[in-house]
Amino acid sequence: MRNWWLWIVVILLALPVAHLQSEEGMFPVSDIAALNLMEKGLKISPADIYNPDGICLVDGICRVNGCTGSFVSPAGLIITNHHCAYRAIQNASTADNDLLVNGFSAADRAAEIPSPGYVVRITESYGDVSQKVLSVVKPEMTFTERTRAIERRRKEIEKQAEAANPAIRAEVAEMFAGKTYVLFEYTFIRDVRLVFAPPSSVGNFGGDVDNWEWPRHTGDFSFMRAYVAADGSSAEYSPDNVPYQPKKHIQVDPRGVAANDFVFLLGYPGRTARHKTAAFLAYEEDVRLPFIVDLYQWQIALMEEMGLEDRAVALQHSSRMRSLANVEKRSRGQLKGLKRAQITAGRAAEEAQLQSFIESDPQRFQKYGTVLNEIAGGYSGMGETADYELTISNLNNASRALYFAWLIYDAALESQKPDLERESAYMDRNVARTVQRLKLAAKDWHPETDQAMLQGMIERLSRVTFPADAVVDKEALLADLKALSENVVTAKWNEPDFLETLLAQSPDQLSKSDDPFIKVMAKLHPEYARLRGLGKQRSGKMDKLYGSLIEVKQEFLKTQFVPDANGTLRLTFGRVEGYSPEDAVIKTPITTLSGVIDKTTGVAPFETPQRVAELYAAKDFGNFALPGKEDLAVAILYSTDTTGGNSGSPILNAEGNLVGVNFDRAFEATINDFAWNQSYSRSIGVDIRYALWITGKVFGADHLLKEMGVQTQ
Ligand code: ASP
Repeated sequence: MRNWWLWIVVILLALPVAHLQSEEGMFPVSDIAALNLMEKGLKISPADIYNPDGICLVDGICRVNGCTGSFVSPAGLIITNHHCAYRAIQNASTADNDLLVNGFSAADRAAEIPSPGYVVRITESYGDVSQKVLSVVKPEMTFTERTRAIERRRKEIEKQAEAANPAIRAEVAEMFAGKTYVLFEYTFIRDVRLVFAPPSSVGNFGGDVDNWEWPRHTGDFSFMRAYVAADGSSAEYSPDNVPYQPKKHIQVDPRGVAANDFVFLLGYPGRTARHKTAAFLAYEEDVRLPFIVDLYQWQIALMEEMGLEDRAVALQHSSRMRSLANVEKRSRGQLKGLKRAQITAGRAAEEAQLQSFIESDPQRFQKYGTVLNEIAGGYSGMGETADYELTISNLNNASRALYFAWLIYDAALESQKPDLERESAYMDRNVARTVQRLKLAAKDWHPETDQAMLQGMIERLSRVTFPADAVVDKEALLADLKALSENVVTAKWNEPDFLETLLAQSPDQLSKSDDPFIKVMAKLHPEYARLRGLGKQRSGKMDKLYGSLIEVKQEFLKTQFVPDANGTLRLTFGRVEGYSPEDAVIKTPITTLSGVIDKTTGVAPFETPQRVAELYAAKDFGNFALPGKEDLAVAILYSTDTTGGNSGSPILNAEGNLVGVNFDRAFEATINDFAWNQSYSRSIGVDIRYALWITGKVFGADHLLKEMGVQTQ
């Protein structure tokens, strides 16, 4: 007992960490009062984070297309990721003025660059509409009718909400498939501009080699700004628009973080599949993910090769290539993680227990006895035709020209229907944005690449078996596509007038078109329509089954569940901490500028701007140095529960101030989408000190630091 005092020290040291446990959960913000966050390390009241009756941090968070952002000044300045602003940076770049290579810093507001295709949403309110949605479902409906009725009802609720309040944008989100639906109302901003982006040598340092990896040394941040009409209403881009004034902005804290700090994130995580069954996971593991890895590896290599000699072509491909590479590597991580952690087998074991519970009561058995089996049957049915379906549906994505033709044809057909019967993208409230996206994509169309893509897809299609109910004939389709591939280079998809003319045509006119792509699409579209119908039938069935599954699971586990991510606002919390990915390897949670310099080879993606190297050599870190060290923090690792869509989420400290910007996950955490685990689920963010140093010290945009209320020197 001589060392009793030592034990006390050990226990005291361990205590703060022990009660700072992180947990699985992307919690809807209405749930956070029940999370006891203050016991876990939060120093502000949960009502400061979310308060439906007052101003709170949530008012300072926005969705930036598929990413998240934070307002960091009263004048609509948004911090998000470099990779989230990538499309805007690419769109403003030319081979001679390459903002991806050089970075961009607007000298003043007039120089900020409009970013077509970008929209910003701020959650204003939300409320449960499950009853309203599900009241349209009748027992005698077929599965397809069920899906269509629910879709229609959701659109109707959205339109009614927007009619009642034209200033907002409404969306009904499915929280638990087939069970709960929530109406979200958003402020919707359509004039978004690029303010500052570091060069890719900072913002994408390490590129695909380091993507999804820790340690990481990437300054993945950028600034954008939201603009509205002078009267405060949302408007398309106009030079007369003024910066949006958010109800709340998040205060940047230039002191950053230290290991073990409590942190939380607010953001818009995209999709997870935690409530899906083992049969779904098996489908992912055996069928879909391997397909995607193989297909995307080929497409990425092809685009890379096409851009080798010509920077203008490389620029055209850069955004698409980057997102394919992101998904390809994530899919590999997921495959590895699914195998290593035996996630599918683990879920099957949980389901076996659930099945015993179901079978232990005759009434329960009557109601739920076949649910798991029927779900499994659904996925195995999908598996049988997956090769064909995945290939044909990727055909009109691989070939952009076919995709353009499909969209034009589809839009023309859908426009004949009453608004509520149309696919959502073509409803009156959405069609302008759909067309805008088409035009932006067409601008990057490169005929030679498209030709090679089409040839490759023909070869892939020739290897798959077409199902008996396909409404295209395999040989006839292959012959048509082959003839088409010989015509690609003469097509005019990148000419705006060409697109406009086609967009103005009715289905009847299109069916008589002599454009070779439209001609092929006229024959192929019925097959895509069949597949869309099949999708609706499947989701009608699955949603109904999953609705029952969640009911009985709740009865069994006697707990409430957190809904899967669905692009709506969520909170997750954890702490700054490392992990051990494999035997004898321990990863610590903060990387430094020394690490950047060590990794720098001078060859992309490991180049570093000269000024960064010079300031590093001079140890000139301004106000942002790591306490007690001649170094700068670059990236941080923490145990929150995140997925795609959390890109750009603010990393907030115990006081609710912004200490970093989330941009990725560690390789092992790619399986967060299927299962979260305290021992290896780690998210990655850029430390705010690095972002501030790069912006102010390296690129001289001190005015932005001042705007955020941060001292520059
Ligand atoms: N880097 C990721 C993405 O863009 C973010 C994440 O998934 O955690 O998908």
